[in-house]
Amino acid sequence: MTDTTRPFDLIAFDVDGTLVWGPDGMTVWEVLNLKFTGTAEWNKERYAEYKAGRLSYADWVDLDVRGWRDSGARREDLIAALEPLRLIEGVREATHALRDAGYRLVVISGTLDLMLETLFPDHPFDEVYANHIGFDEQGRIAHWRATPFDMTGKAEALRGVALREGIPLKRCAFVGDSSNDVWIAQTAGFTVAFNPRCEELERAADAVVLSDDFRDVLPHFLDGVSV
Ligand SMILES: [Mg+2]
Repeated sequence: MTDTTRPFDLIAFDVDGTLVWGPDGMTVWEVLNLKFTGTAEWNKERYAEYKAGRLSYADWVDLDVRGWRDSGARREDLIAALEPLRLIEGVREATHALRDAGYRLVVISGTLDLMLETLFPDHPFDEVYANHIGFDEQGRIAHWRATPFDMTGKAEALRGVALREGIPLKRCAFVGDSSNDVWIAQTAGFTVAFNPRCEELERAADAVVLSDDFRDVLPHFLDGVSV
């Protein structure tokens, strides 16, 4: 359903680096690998293997989560280890304002669902596409499921949601920061690169917002609304 009072009908968001700040730009994967395996270097190595086509995305997730499980980390330990990560200033206010304006809001991310639930339990998102971790009754890591919707898959998720909701891609916007966001940026009708860490994303984006406050993306979506 389109609504001419808004420039778009749906906004998709990345999480790490876009809605969540990590020290030195660390993602949730780097923070948890550092905590439970003693090094965040796995991420660079495994990303290189993934890019070279020698490691599937699902196997990459599997290696990381097994490392935490094998160290004995339980749900409460994982939650405590998320302490260095913060919801970026203004995210709560901005996303709720967009929801109130009638936008359909979707997260399409390579993050962990546990992090979003922990840092933003009152989030207004209609749908969350992310990696999943499940626990047994003692809080031990019991199972996990890699998202098929990271990297090029982010664009596939957006196409799927848009098709199902009957929203033209031109009416779908995206906000992201990094190299895994390039494909979805090329697919969405409008992309904001928020504090981008990737030149290719900047080139694919329609607008760049450099700010410590996420509310600075709002002028692109809400005309004259103060939050
Ligand atoms: Mg990101």
